Amino acid sequence: MSKVILVVCDALRDDTARQQMGYLEHLVEAKAATRYKVIGELPSMSRPMYETLHTGVPASKHGVTNNRVVRRSKMPNVFQIASENNKTTAAAAYGWVSDLYNRAPYDPIDDREVDDPNLLIQHGRFYIEDSYPDSELFATAGMLVRKFQPDYLLVHPMGMDYLGHTYSSDSQEYRNNAIEQDQIMANLIPEWLEAGYIVIVTADHGMTSDKMHGGTSLEVRQVPLYFIPPDGQGKGDTNTTLSQLQIAPTVCHLLGLPIPETMTQTPFA
Ligand SMILES: [Zn+2]
Repeated sequence: MSKVILVVCDALRDDTARQQMGYLEHLVEAKAATRYKVIGELPSMSRPMYETLHTGVPASKHGVTNNRVVRRSKMPNVFQIASENNKTTAAAAYGWVSDLYNRAPYDPIDDREVDDPNLLIQHGRFYIEDSYPDSELFATAGMLVRKFQPDYLLVHPMGMDYLGHTYSSDSQEYRNNAIEQDQIMANLIPEWLEAGYIVIVTADHGMTSDKMHGGTSLEVRQVPLYFIPPDGQGKGDTNTTLSQLQIAPTVCHLLGLPIPETMTQTPFA
């Protein structure tokens, strides 16, 4: 059983990660990480995919069919199963994640910073501005690890989504922010591996040159997945494709948690 940090880089395209994220791709090249391509579920929208990533079921089953469904999750999910099994949970994430697993609707003052063992996300640090800097978000995640040593931590930066909507995925702003995120992770991931964490880096959906996502094109469906184990024994680039529905049962499996019947896909690690 392991501790897991799941980094969900909002709106990070697979090809952008491959071309711009030199640190993560170095880990792949050195076989210290395993790389997969993920075919994202539909609709390629944020809130439905936050729920899919944590429940392992598609939007038609979990019911969070669009960004305007503001309520808590009704499905067995990673935060719930972890906290029921006496694991410590934490998140540095967008307020919609607090909606799904802590309290809905998100109150930007009351829910911003929570440390409560009775919540599904016990140590939560949330933001609601899409322009919230990735550097601040990752620093918060680093703090949560040092201060609380959570068994499961969600790290959720919004910079790729914000810059993609503002400038398009075909812009220097979008591409260069992938380099920025990669450099920030290059600073944090060695410490997290040293502390025994498995680090998984992926995305909820991609981004188009039309400054949007939501459809079915490869630009919005193909996202990367880097699996970085603490022992440095990765498999390099597998050139294989995973279903996004496999992520939740994989996290449960890695944490040593029972996998609920609703998560029907096979763990990939
Ligand atoms: Zn978006």
